[in-house]
Amino acid sequence: MGAFNTVRSEQTCASCGRLSAFQVQYKYGELWQYEYQIGDSIAWSTKYKKSEAGKPGRPQVVVEGIAENCPHCRAEGGEFEVWLAHDQIVDVRPLTDPKKFIESNFIVPEKH
Ligand SMILES: [Zn+2]
Repeated sequence: MGAFNTVRSEQTCASCGRLSAFQVQYKYGELWQYEYQIGDSIAWSTKYKKSEAGKPGRPQVVVEGIAENCPHCRAEGGEFEVWLAHDQIVDVRPLTDPKKFIESNFIVPEKH
C-alpha cells in the first residue's frame, strides 16, 4: 500500500443516510498522509520526487478518491472524484462514471 493523502468531505452516507465527514483517500501531489480540507492548496515535494503523482500547476485535474468507512455505521464510503484547480482542492463529488479512472488514477480534462 503506497502513500496517499486525504481530503475531508461532508457526504450523505449511502448506507445509513446520515451526513458524515468522510476521509477521502487520493493520490496526487506530494504523497505524505496529508489531511486536507476543501479549499486547501496541495503540497509538492521538493526533495523526494518519487513520492508524488502528477504535475504542479495544472488548471484542472480530477483525481480518483476512495472514501474511508462511514464514521457512524462503518459502511464502505464508496468512490469519489477529487477536483483540483491550480493545485487547490475545489470540490469532492461522488464518482459519476466507474470507467473514468481505468487507465489512470487522475485525468486532466481537455480544453475545448
Ligand atoms: Zn453510514
